[in-house]
Amino acid sequence: MSIGHAPTKKVFLKTYGCQMNVYDSERMSEALAVDGYASTETMEDADLIILNTCHIRERAADKVYSELGRIRDIKDERAALGKTTTVTIAGCVAQAEGEEMTRRAPAVDLVIGPQSYHHLPKLIARNHADGKSIVETQFPDDDKFKELPERRRTLATAAFLTVQEGCDKFCTFCVVPYTRGAEYSRPVAQILSEARKLVSHGVREITLLGQNVNGYHGVDTHGKDMTLGGLVRELATIDGLERIRYMTSHPRDMGDDLIAAHRDIDKLMPFLHLPFQAGSDRILAAMNRKHTAAEFVSLVDRVRLARPDIALSTDIIVGFPGETEGEFQATLEIVKTVHFASAYSFKFSARPGTPAASMDGQLSEDVKDDRLKRLQDLLMQQQRTFNAACVGKTFPVLFEKAGRYAGQLIGRSPYLQSVHADADMSAIGKILPVEIASVGPNSLAGVVKSL
Ligand code: SF4
Repeated sequence: MSIGHAPTKKVFLKTYGCQMNVYDSERMSEALAVDGYASTETMEDADLIILNTCHIRERAADKVYSELGRIRDIKDERAALGKTTTVTIAGCVAQAEGEEMTRRAPAVDLVIGPQSYHHLPKLIARNHADGKSIVETQFPDDDKFKELPERRRTLATAAFLTVQEGCDKFCTFCVVPYTRGAEYSRPVAQILSEARKLVSHGVREITLLGQNVNGYHGVDTHGKDMTLGGLVRELATIDGLERIRYMTSHPRDMGDDLIAAHRDIDKLMPFLHLPFQAGSDRILAAMNRKHTAAEFVSLVDRVRLARPDIALSTDIIVGFPGETEGEFQATLEIVKTVHFASAYSFKFSARPGTPAASMDGQLSEDVKDDRLKRLQDLLMQQQRTFNAACVGKTFPVLFEKAGRYAGQLIGRSPYLQSVHADADMSAIGKILPVEIASVGPNSLAGVVKSL
Protein backbone atom coordinates (compact mmCIF):
# COMPACT_ATOMS: atom_id res chain seq x y z
CA MET A 1 0.00 0.00 0.00
CA SER A 2 1.68 3.25 -1.00
CA ILE A 3 1.29 6.27 1.31
CA GLY A 4 0.90 9.73 -0.38
CA HIS A 5 2.53 10.55 -3.78
CA ALA A 6 5.36 8.50 -5.41
CA PRO A 7 8.58 10.49 -4.72
CA THR A 8 9.20 12.78 -7.68
CA LYS A 9 10.93 15.65 -5.91
CA LYS A 10 14.02 15.86 -3.71
CA VAL A 11 14.52 17.62 -0.37
CA PHE A 12 17.83 18.49 1.29
CA LEU A 13 17.25 19.03 5.03
CA LYS A 14 20.07 20.18 7.30
CA THR A 15 19.50 20.19 11.06
CA TYR A 16 21.35 22.35 13.59
CA GLY A 17 21.17 22.33 17.38
CA CYS A 18 19.21 20.26 19.87
CA GLN A 19 17.36 16.95 19.89
CA MET A 20 14.07 18.82 19.45
CA ASN A 21 15.30 20.13 16.11
CA VAL A 22 16.26 16.55 15.18
CA TYR A 23 12.73 15.44 16.04
CA ASP A 24 11.18 18.38 14.14
CA SER A 25 13.29 17.55 11.08
CA GLU A 26 12.10 13.94 11.17
CA ARG A 27 8.47 15.13 11.30
CA MET A 28 9.06 17.61 8.49
CA SER A 29 10.58 14.95 6.21
CA GLU A 30 7.64 12.63 6.99
CA ALA A 31 5.14 15.35 6.05
CA LEU A 32 7.08 16.05 2.84
CA ALA A 33 7.29 12.34 1.98
CA VAL A 34 3.50 12.28 1.90
CA ASP A 35 3.79 15.15 -0.61
CA GLY A 36 6.19 13.24 -2.85
CA TYR A 37 9.60 14.39 -1.56
CA ALA A 38 12.49 11.97 -1.14
CA SER A 39 15.54 12.95 0.92
CA THR A 40 18.86 13.76 -0.76
CA GLU A 41 22.25 14.44 0.84
CA THR A 42 23.28 16.61 -2.15
CA MET A 43 22.12 20.23 -2.05
CA GLU A 44 22.66 20.67 -5.81
CA ASP A 45 20.11 17.89 -6.53
CA ALA A 46 17.43 19.31 -4.26
CA ASP A 47 14.16 20.90 -5.41
CA LEU A 48 13.64 21.97 -1.82
CA ILE A 49 16.40 23.06 0.58
CA ILE A 50 15.55 23.37 4.28
CA LEU A 51 17.87 24.62 7.03
CA ASN A 52 16.36 23.78 10.42
CA THR A 53 18.26 26.26 12.55
CA CYS A 54 19.36 26.80 16.17
CA HIS A 55 19.61 30.17 17.89
CA ILE A 56 21.44 29.13 21.05
CA ARG A 57 25.01 29.81 20.02
CA GLU A 58 26.73 33.13 19.32
CA ARG A 59 26.53 34.37 15.73
CA ALA A 60 23.93 31.66 15.00
CA ALA A 61 22.07 33.94 12.57
CA ASP A 62 25.34 35.04 10.87
CA LYS A 63 26.19 31.41 10.14
CA VAL A 64 22.81 30.90 8.48
CA TYR A 65 23.25 34.02 6.35
CA SER A 66 26.70 32.88 5.19
CA GLU A 67 25.28 29.43 4.30
CA LEU A 68 22.55 31.26 2.36
CA GLY A 69 25.25 32.82 0.17
CA ARG A 70 26.18 29.39 -1.16
CA ILE A 71 22.53 28.33 -1.43
CA ARG A 72 21.74 31.44 -3.54
CA ASP A 73 24.46 30.41 -6.01
CA ILE A 74 23.11 26.86 -6.24
CA LYS A 75 19.59 28.23 -6.78
CA ASP A 76 20.87 30.48 -9.59
CA GLU A 77 22.82 27.64 -11.25
CA ARG A 78 19.74 25.38 -11.14
CA ALA A 79 17.53 28.21 -12.47
CA ALA A 80 19.91 28.54 -15.44
CA LEU A 81 19.09 24.86 -16.15
CA GLY A 82 15.37 25.58 -15.86
CA LYS A 83 15.10 23.97 -12.40
CA THR A 84 13.17 25.53 -9.49
CA THR A 85 14.68 25.43 -6.00
CA THR A 86 12.56 26.39 -2.99
CA VAL A 87 14.69 27.68 -0.10
CA THR A 88 13.24 27.33 3.41
CA ILE A 89 14.63 28.50 6.75
CA ALA A 90 13.00 26.77 9.72
CA GLY A 91 13.70 26.57 13.46
CA CYS A 92 14.70 29.15 16.04
CA VAL A 93 16.72 31.54 13.82
CA ALA A 94 13.71 31.69 11.49
CA GLN A 95 11.50 32.49 14.48
CA ALA A 96 13.89 35.18 15.74
CA GLU A 97 14.67 36.81 12.37
CA GLY A 98 11.26 36.55 10.62
CA GLU A 99 10.78 39.22 7.89
CA GLU A 100 14.41 40.39 8.30
CA MET A 101 15.48 37.10 6.73
CA THR A 102 13.70 37.66 3.39
CA ARG A 103 14.93 41.27 3.34
CA ARG A 104 18.59 40.33 3.92
CA ALA A 105 18.46 37.12 1.82
CA PRO A 106 16.05 37.43 -1.16
CA ALA A 107 16.90 33.84 -2.18
CA VAL A 108 14.79 32.65 0.77
CA ASP A 109 11.25 31.63 -0.21
CA LEU A 110 9.88 30.42 3.14
CA VAL A 111 10.66 31.42 6.74
CA ILE A 112 8.87 29.05 9.13
CA GLY A 113 8.93 29.06 12.93
CA PRO A 114 9.18 25.81 15.00
CA GLN A 115 5.42 25.92 15.67
CA SER A 116 4.44 26.16 12.00
CA TYR A 117 6.31 23.45 10.10
CA HIS A 118 3.17 21.29 9.82
CA HIS A 119 1.97 23.90 7.29
CA LEU A 120 5.06 23.31 5.09
CA PRO A 121 3.38 21.42 2.21
CA LYS A 122 0.63 24.01 1.72
CA LEU A 123 3.05 26.95 2.09
CA ILE A 124 5.30 25.46 -0.61
CA ALA A 125 2.26 25.13 -2.88
CA ARG A 126 1.31 28.77 -2.20
CA ASN A 127 4.85 29.97 -2.90
CA HIS A 128 4.92 28.01 -6.16
CA ALA A 129 1.49 29.42 -7.14
CA ASP A 130 2.20 33.14 -6.60
CA GLY A 131 6.03 33.18 -6.44
CA LYS A 132 5.94 35.38 -3.33
CA SER A 133 8.11 34.67 -0.25
CA ILE A 134 6.23 33.67 2.89
CA VAL A 135 7.08 34.33 6.54
CA GLU A 136 5.10 32.24 9.05
CA THR A 137 6.39 32.80 12.59
CA GLN A 138 3.27 33.46 14.62
CA PHE A 139 2.22 30.77 17.11
CA PRO A 140 -0.71 29.07 15.32
CA ASP A 141 -3.91 28.00 17.08
CA ASP A 142 -4.06 24.58 15.45
CA ASP A 143 -2.29 21.64 17.11
CA LYS A 144 0.79 20.93 15.01
CA PHE A 145 0.90 17.31 16.09
CA LYS A 146 -2.71 16.71 14.98
CA GLU A 147 -1.85 18.01 11.49
CA LEU A 148 1.30 15.95 11.01
CA PRO A 149 1.09 12.57 9.30
CA GLU A 150 0.32 9.84 11.84
CA ARG A 151 2.78 7.45 10.30
CA ARG A 152 6.23 7.54 11.85
CA ARG A 153 8.92 6.35 9.45
CA THR A 154 11.89 6.04 11.75
CA LEU A 155 13.74 2.74 11.35
CA ALA A 156 16.12 3.19 14.27
CA THR A 157 16.06 1.23 17.54
CA ALA A 158 16.02 4.45 19.56
CA ALA A 159 13.88 7.51 18.84
CA PHE A 160 13.02 10.96 20.14
CA LEU A 161 9.44 11.91 20.98
CA THR A 162 8.54 15.49 21.78
CA VAL A 163 6.04 15.66 24.66
CA GLN A 164 6.39 19.30 25.69
CA GLU A 165 7.40 22.48 23.89
CA GLY A 166 8.24 26.05 24.80
CA CYS A 167 9.29 27.40 28.20
CA ASP A 168 7.88 29.81 30.79
CA LYS A 169 11.04 30.04 32.93
CA PHE A 170 12.66 33.04 31.22
CA CYS A 171 16.22 32.40 32.35
CA THR A 172 17.93 35.71 31.62
CA PHE A 173 20.51 34.19 29.20
CA CYS A 174 18.09 32.11 27.13
CA VAL A 175 16.23 32.75 23.86
CA VAL A 176 13.98 29.69 24.02
CA PRO A 177 10.92 31.37 25.57
CA TYR A 178 11.05 33.90 22.71
CA THR A 179 11.70 31.44 19.87
CA ARG A 180 9.65 28.47 21.03
CA GLY A 181 6.88 30.29 22.91
CA ALA A 182 4.95 29.37 26.05
CA GLU A 183 5.02 25.88 27.56
CA TYR A 184 2.65 23.44 25.86
CA SER A 185 2.19 19.81 26.88
CA ARG A 186 0.81 17.32 24.32
CA PRO A 187 -2.25 15.25 25.33
CA VAL A 188 -1.37 11.89 26.89
CA ALA A 189 -3.33 9.84 24.34
CA GLN A 190 -1.48 11.48 21.42
CA ILE A 191 1.89 10.63 22.99
CA LEU A 192 0.92 7.03 23.79
CA SER A 193 -0.33 6.53 20.24
CA GLU A 194 2.91 7.89 18.74
CA ALA A 195 4.99 5.75 21.11
CA ARG A 196 3.08 2.61 20.11
CA LYS A 197 3.68 3.42 16.43
CA LEU A 198 7.40 3.82 17.05
CA VAL A 199 7.53 0.50 18.94
CA SER A 200 5.63 -1.22 16.12
CA HIS A 201 8.46 -0.02 13.84
CA GLY A 202 11.14 -1.67 15.98
CA VAL A 203 11.97 1.19 18.38
CA ARG A 204 12.99 -0.18 21.78
CA GLU A 205 14.08 3.08 23.45
CA ILE A 206 12.27 6.42 23.50
CA THR A 207 13.70 9.73 24.74
CA LEU A 208 10.94 12.14 25.75
CA LEU A 209 11.84 15.68 24.71
CA GLY A 210 10.90 19.09 26.00
CA GLN A 211 12.68 22.36 26.61
CA ASN A 212 11.40 21.93 30.13
CA VAL A 213 10.27 18.32 29.93
CA ASN A 214 9.80 17.69 33.67
CA GLY A 215 7.35 20.61 33.63
CA TYR A 216 5.08 18.36 31.54
CA HIS A 217 1.36 18.64 32.40
CA GLY A 218 -0.64 16.83 29.73
CA VAL A 219 -4.36 16.01 29.84
CA ASP A 220 -5.27 12.33 29.96
CA THR A 221 -8.31 10.69 28.41
CA HIS A 222 -10.36 11.45 31.55
CA GLY A 223 -9.55 15.13 31.29
CA LYS A 224 -7.23 14.86 34.27
CA ASP A 225 -3.79 16.49 34.47
CA MET A 226 -0.83 14.09 34.20
CA THR A 227 2.78 14.89 35.14
CA LEU A 228 5.93 13.45 33.58
CA GLY A 229 6.13 10.87 36.36
CA GLY A 230 2.63 9.68 35.46
CA LEU A 231 3.41 9.69 31.74
CA VAL A 232 6.51 7.54 32.29
CA ARG A 233 4.41 5.01 34.22
CA GLU A 234 1.87 4.90 31.35
CA LEU A 235 4.57 4.47 28.70
CA ALA A 236 6.24 1.72 30.72
CA THR A 237 3.13 -0.45 30.18
CA ILE A 238 3.75 -0.56 26.41
CA ASP A 239 5.02 -4.03 25.39
CA GLY A 240 8.20 -3.83 23.37
CA LEU A 241 9.20 -0.43 24.76
CA GLU A 242 12.23 -1.42 26.86
CA ARG A 243 13.82 1.90 27.79
CA ILE A 244 12.58 5.39 28.57
CA ARG A 245 14.68 8.56 28.89
CA TYR A 246 13.80 12.26 29.05
CA MET A 247 15.52 15.64 28.54
CA THR A 248 15.89 18.53 29.31
CA SER A 249 14.79 19.14 32.90
CA HIS A 250 14.73 22.09 35.30
CA PRO A 251 15.62 21.48 38.97
CA ARG A 252 12.48 23.33 40.07
CA ASP A 253 10.19 20.87 38.25
CA MET A 254 11.72 17.67 39.60
CA GLY A 255 8.56 16.51 41.40
CA ASP A 256 8.38 13.75 44.04
CA ASP A 257 6.34 11.58 41.66
CA LEU A 258 9.10 11.77 39.02
CA ILE A 259 11.71 10.85 41.62
CA ALA A 260 9.46 7.96 42.69
CA ALA A 261 9.25 6.87 39.04
CA HIS A 262 13.06 6.59 39.05
CA ARG A 263 12.71 4.36 42.13
CA ASP A 264 9.90 2.16 40.81
CA ILE A 265 10.15 1.96 36.99
CA ASP A 266 12.99 -0.27 35.73
CA LYS A 267 12.37 0.86 32.15
CA LEU A 268 13.22 4.45 33.19
CA MET A 269 16.98 4.65 32.62
CA PRO A 270 19.16 5.58 35.66
CA PHE A 271 20.54 8.63 33.85
CA LEU A 272 19.34 12.16 34.59
CA HIS A 273 20.30 15.30 32.67
CA LEU A 274 19.77 18.11 35.18
CA PRO A 275 21.30 21.51 34.31
CA PHE A 276 22.50 23.61 37.30
CA GLN A 277 24.23 26.29 35.22
CA ALA A 278 26.17 28.00 38.07
CA GLY A 279 27.22 27.41 41.70
CA SER A 280 26.79 30.90 43.16
CA ASP A 281 23.38 31.88 44.56
CA ARG A 282 23.91 35.49 43.43
CA ILE A 283 24.58 34.34 39.85
CA LEU A 284 21.68 31.83 39.95
CA ALA A 285 19.40 34.71 40.97
CA ALA A 286 20.79 36.92 38.16
CA MET A 287 20.07 34.03 35.79
CA ASN A 288 16.50 33.87 37.16
CA ARG A 289 16.92 30.13 37.92
CA LYS A 290 14.82 30.51 41.09
CA HIS A 291 16.73 27.94 43.11
CA THR A 292 19.90 27.98 45.23
CA ALA A 293 23.02 25.83 44.94
CA ALA A 294 22.13 24.09 48.21
CA GLU A 295 18.64 23.26 46.92
CA PHE A 296 20.21 21.72 43.80
CA VAL A 297 22.54 19.53 45.89
CA SER A 298 19.73 18.37 48.20
CA LEU A 299 17.60 17.56 45.16
CA VAL A 300 20.42 15.39 43.81
CA ASP A 301 20.63 13.66 47.23
CA ARG A 302 16.90 12.89 47.09
CA VAL A 303 17.18 11.47 43.57
CA ARG A 304 20.17 9.33 44.58
CA LEU A 305 18.29 8.08 47.63
CA ALA A 306 15.48 6.89 45.35
CA ARG A 307 17.80 5.40 42.71
CA PRO A 308 21.31 4.83 44.11
CA ASP A 309 22.81 3.70 40.79
CA ILE A 310 21.66 6.83 38.94
CA ALA A 311 24.24 8.87 37.00
CA LEU A 312 23.92 12.58 36.36
CA SER A 313 24.83 14.94 33.57
CA THR A 314 24.35 18.67 33.52
CA ASP A 315 24.70 22.03 31.70
CA ILE A 316 27.02 24.74 33.08
CA ILE A 317 27.65 28.31 31.97
CA VAL A 318 30.89 30.09 32.96
CA GLY A 319 31.55 33.82 32.73
CA PHE A 320 27.99 35.08 33.32
CA PRO A 321 28.08 38.89 33.56
CA GLY A 322 29.63 39.97 36.85
CA GLU A 323 30.79 36.47 37.84
CA THR A 324 33.76 36.81 40.22
CA GLU A 325 36.58 34.26 40.62
CA GLY A 326 35.02 33.29 43.96
CA GLU A 327 31.64 32.70 42.32
CA PHE A 328 33.30 30.58 39.66
CA GLN A 329 34.94 28.57 42.45
CA ALA A 330 31.40 27.94 43.78
CA THR A 331 30.56 26.32 40.45
CA LEU A 332 33.62 24.07 40.74
CA GLU A 333 32.52 23.17 44.29
CA ILE A 334 29.13 21.94 43.07
CA VAL A 335 30.84 19.79 40.46
CA LYS A 336 33.18 18.34 43.11
CA THR A 337 30.21 17.65 45.41
CA VAL A 338 27.90 16.02 42.87
CA HIS A 339 30.31 14.17 40.52
CA PHE A 340 28.90 14.11 36.99
CA ALA A 341 29.15 11.20 34.56
CA SER A 342 29.10 13.74 31.71
CA ALA A 343 28.34 17.42 31.19
CA TYR A 344 27.90 20.21 28.64
CA SER A 345 29.77 23.38 29.49
CA PHE A 346 29.67 26.73 27.74
CA LYS A 347 31.05 30.24 27.93
CA PHE A 348 28.33 32.82 28.51
CA SER A 349 27.39 34.31 25.13
CA ALA A 350 25.13 37.35 24.97
CA ARG A 351 21.99 36.33 23.04
CA PRO A 352 20.28 39.29 21.32
CA GLY A 353 17.06 40.25 23.06
CA THR A 354 17.80 38.46 26.35
CA PRO A 355 18.11 40.45 29.63
CA ALA A 356 21.62 39.11 30.32
CA ALA A 357 22.89 40.50 27.02
CA SER A 358 22.61 44.05 28.37
CA MET A 359 23.72 43.36 31.94
CA ASP A 360 26.73 45.20 33.41
CA GLY A 361 29.94 43.32 34.08
CA GLN A 362 30.33 41.50 30.74
CA LEU A 363 33.58 39.49 31.07
CA SER A 364 36.41 39.31 28.56
CA GLU A 365 36.79 36.26 26.31
CA ASP A 366 40.15 35.52 27.96
CA VAL A 367 38.59 35.25 31.41
CA LYS A 368 35.77 33.07 30.03
CA ASP A 369 38.21 30.85 28.12
CA ASP A 370 40.34 30.35 31.24
CA ARG A 371 37.36 29.42 33.42
CA LEU A 372 35.93 27.09 30.76
CA LYS A 373 39.30 25.29 30.50
CA ARG A 374 39.55 24.76 34.27
CA LEU A 375 35.95 23.58 34.47
CA GLN A 376 36.28 21.18 31.52
CA ASP A 377 39.48 19.69 32.98
CA LEU A 378 37.57 18.84 36.15
CA LEU A 379 34.52 17.52 34.26
CA MET A 380 36.68 15.36 31.98
CA GLN A 381 38.42 13.91 35.01
CA GLN A 382 35.07 13.00 36.54
CA GLN A 383 33.84 11.45 33.29
CA ARG A 384 37.00 9.34 33.05
CA THR A 385 36.61 8.20 36.67
CA PHE A 386 32.97 7.27 36.02
CA ASN A 387 33.82 5.28 32.86
CA ALA A 388 36.81 3.55 34.46
CA ALA A 389 34.58 2.37 37.31
CA CYS A 390 32.45 0.55 34.72
CA VAL A 391 35.25 -1.90 33.81
CA GLY A 392 34.39 -5.39 35.05
CA LYS A 393 30.70 -4.52 35.42
CA THR A 394 27.99 -6.04 33.20
CA PHE A 395 25.41 -3.69 31.65
CA PRO A 396 22.34 -4.29 29.48
CA VAL A 397 23.32 -2.73 26.11
CA LEU A 398 20.79 -1.85 23.40
CA PHE A 399 22.59 -2.58 20.14
CA GLU A 400 21.80 0.05 17.51
CA LYS A 401 24.09 -0.38 14.49
CA ALA A 402 27.12 -2.06 12.93
CA GLY A 403 30.51 -0.97 14.24
CA ARG A 404 33.66 0.00 12.37
CA TYR A 405 34.96 -3.56 12.13
CA ALA A 406 33.38 -6.70 10.70
CA GLY A 407 31.39 -8.56 13.35
CA GLN A 408 31.32 -5.51 15.67
CA LEU A 409 28.16 -3.79 16.84
CA ILE A 410 27.66 -0.49 18.68
CA GLY A 411 25.04 0.14 21.31
CA ARG A 412 24.18 2.25 24.35
CA SER A 413 24.53 1.45 28.03
CA PRO A 414 21.84 2.64 30.49
CA TYR A 415 24.20 5.60 31.09
CA LEU A 416 24.09 6.61 27.38
CA GLN A 417 27.69 5.49 26.99
CA SER A 418 28.57 4.18 23.55
CA VAL A 419 29.56 0.50 23.87
CA HIS A 420 31.04 -1.68 21.13
CA ALA A 421 31.25 -5.47 21.22
CA ASP A 422 31.46 -8.39 18.84
CA ALA A 423 27.99 -9.67 18.03
CA ASP A 424 25.93 -10.88 15.09
CA MET A 425 23.91 -8.31 13.08
CA SER A 426 20.77 -10.07 14.34
CA ALA A 427 21.49 -8.51 17.74
CA ILE A 428 20.59 -5.02 16.45
CA GLY A 429 17.48 -3.89 18.30
CA LYS A 430 18.19 -6.34 21.11
CA ILE A 431 19.29 -5.58 24.68
CA LEU A 432 22.11 -7.95 25.68
CA PRO A 433 24.28 -8.17 28.83
CA VAL A 434 27.78 -6.88 28.08
CA GLU A 435 30.74 -7.12 30.45
CA ILE A 436 32.83 -3.96 30.11
CA ALA A 437 36.45 -4.80 29.39
CA SER A 438 38.05 -1.44 28.66
CA VAL A 439 37.49 2.30 28.24
CA GLY A 440 38.36 4.21 25.07
CA PRO A 441 38.40 7.99 24.47
CA ASN A 442 34.75 8.09 23.38
CA SER A 443 33.34 4.65 24.08
CA LEU A 444 33.54 1.49 26.15
CA ALA A 445 34.51 -1.95 24.81
CA GLY A 446 32.96 -5.14 26.12
CA VAL A 447 32.08 -8.78 25.63
CA VAL A 448 28.54 -10.05 25.22
CA LYS A 449 27.78 -12.41 28.09
CA SER A 450 25.82 -15.52 27.19
CA LEU A 451 22.21 -15.13 28.38
S1 SF4 B 1 14.53 26.55 31.54
FE1 SF4 B 1 15.91 26.08 29.85
S2 SF4 B 1 14.76 26.52 28.00
FE2 SF4 B 1 13.70 27.51 29.71
S3 SF4 B 1 14.46 29.60 29.73
FE3 SF4 B 1 15.72 28.39 31.16
S4 SF4 B 1 17.47 27.65 29.97
FE4 SF4 B 1 15.90 28.37 28.52
